[in-house]
Amino acid sequence: MAHKRPDPARSESPLAPRPTNPPPHVYSSIGYDRAAARRDDAAFQAEALRDPATRFLVLHGLKPLFIEDASGPHPLFVGAAALAAHRPQAPFFLGLHAGRAVFAVDLDGAAIEGGTYLELRSVGPSLPAAEAGLLAFARALAHWRLRHRYCGACGGAMVTLSAGHCRRCEACGFDTFPRTDPAVICLVTSGEHCLLGRSRHFPDGMYSTLAGFVEPGESLEQTVVREIEEEVGIRVAAVRYRSSQPWPFPQSLMLGFRAEAPLVEPVIDPAELEAARWLHRSELLDPARRPVRLPNPDSIARFLLEDWLYSS
Ligand SMILES: [Zn+2]
Repeated sequence: MAHKRPDPARSESPLAPRPTNPPPHVYSSIGYDRAAARRDDAAFQAEALRDPATRFLVLHGLKPLFIEDASGPHPLFVGAAALAAHRPQAPFFLGLHAGRAVFAVDLDGAAIEGGTYLELRSVGPSLPAAEAGLLAFARALAHWRLRHRYCGACGGAMVTLSAGHCRRCEACGFDTFPRTDPAVICLVTSGEHCLLGRSRHFPDGMYSTLAGFVEPGESLEQTVVREIEEEVGIRVAAVRYRSSQPWPFPQSLMLGFRAEAPLVEPVIDPAELEAARWLHRSELLDPARRPVRLPNPDSIARFLLEDWLYSS
């Protein structure tokens, strides 16, 4: 597929001309048409499910099926004929890619010749953008369906509508739609320094931007101020929106910000962070001097950081 992403291995270059994961960030809808108006078009859906040109992305739970070749793992798309031996749940219609309908379908762990089920995050950074976006969309829908098997209002059984994009209670008629939870993520700067924090769940040595979920009744800017004050005891100002990234691990939308603060020592909340520190731009730009590991190249955290590092 087109829109090949930069090689993540290059992302360690101190002279990278621009961030490795610019907007629209990986896992967004890139290079395909979601064709939302077709979800309730019964004739279109029936024809697409029969069409031998239609491609099915195979899932087992939340893991897509991949094949590996010399260039690495690629999602395995199969035709309708390959589904004939199985009894899949209702497929999710993901949209149109290269003029063909694309669905995601769970084959309950069925063995497919040459394929392996892998966690998307383990391969996402190396995938072409359209494939990463389709897989992220499929994963988010699959997670939502797994968590909405029964009605939240009356406990009744749910049926699937709108080509997988709506669940309706057969008993009371309550409809539920795929969920996405807004979370803010913010790079705090003070002149030539930026503030990074470390969660105990991070890989060894990794530091990243600060983040937290939006609460009901808050604006995004208020969430940024509250979260940073809670996590490191520092009051930020000049909160500016930068860009957003779908983060279907399992169901977040990361809203990326930059903010400014005085260069004061962070006082961490140990329930949230293991450590936090100010780092100078020059020590982050030079891999030989860099005292921390940067956030993963598929993350908006990495973009927010590089966007600042490479700006003049
Ligand atoms: Zn109900």
